[in-house]
Amino acid sequence: MAAQILDGKALAARVRAEVAQGVAEFRRRKGLAPGLAVVLVGDDPASQIYVNRKEKACAEVGIYSETLRFPAEVEERELLSHIAELNARPEIHGILVQLPLPPHLEQARVLRAIHPAKDVDCFHPVNFGRLALGDPYLVPCTPAGILELIRQTGVPLAGREAVVVGRSNIVGKPTALLLLGEHATVTVCHSRTADLPAVCRRADVLVVAVGRREMVKGHWIKPGAVVIDVGINRYEGKLYGDVDFRQAVEVAGYLTPVPGGVGPMTIAMLLRNTLRAAEAGAP
Ligand code: NDP
Repeated sequence: MAAQILDGKALAARVRAEVAQGVAEFRRRKGLAPGLAVVLVGDDPASQIYVNRKEKACAEVGIYSETLRFPAEVEERELLSHIAELNARPEIHGILVQLPLPPHLEQARVLRAIHPAKDVDCFHPVNFGRLALGDPYLVPCTPAGILELIRQTGVPLAGREAVVVGRSNIVGKPTALLLLGEHATVTVCHSRTADLPAVCRRADVLVVAVGRREMVKGHWIKPGAVVIDVGINRYEGKLYGDVDFRQAVEVAGYLTPVPGGVGPMTIAMLLRNTLRAAEAGAP
């Protein structure tokens, strides 16, 4: 039987509608909109697309947004001083630095410059630490979206085997922490994992965030499993996930498409985080 497709677009639309309502209430109470500042360095075409989408999504739910654009060769000192200004502006509740940054900028230092209260991507060590301690302030956007998609299936996580392929700080690691928080038995895989297909086959819930087109094949998947494909791989003008969709759909119980799965959820969660940061009264 073919897998049920988890429609990230439809779920994201529901989240955005909830956020729009919360934004309207916030505006009534406070007399101003929640505000998001996006910092974009250089002219990476994919980053430009993501930033445009974020701006549009903010406008649709009534969040004020502004994008600070810098040339690829901007000095780190200058970038940090602009982030410090954003930290001090009361009408800006969330700050996001679009990654990747050009190699001469130290990513960790730039991300640490964002005030933790305004860190809507949740990459600051304080926020990552709180997540690891099970007391998150905000939940990082892509992992939060992944968890919402899994909840959508109604499959209980407690006691289930969850396998996360990929251990990045942006996706794999925080997703594993969230699954652990839901009492799943979590295994995190990476490029040195021995016999990856066998580990994946154990998974009741399989999250794949690797960045390799169609790497996960049908026979890697336990029949009936929930499969969340985070990958975005561009190839010959088309987008592909990390999971071989045609094979996986025959085996999995639930499956996210690419595009239209995790991607729209990431932006919806960014909007939710911006509203939450505003409600928390970011300094
Ligand atoms: P990274 O490149 O930071 O991490 C990739 C991870 O995959 C690493 O942990 C790496 O292992 C592991 N890996 C690489 N090759 C293999 C392999 N052959 N077998 C097992 N593991 C492997 O990527 P990100 O986490 O940032 O992103 C992953 C994918 O998700 C990308 O396609 C990205 O575009 C997409 N993405 C999608 C988002 C969305 O909104 N839909 C948001 C963010 C990312 P090791 O640590 O050993 O190197």
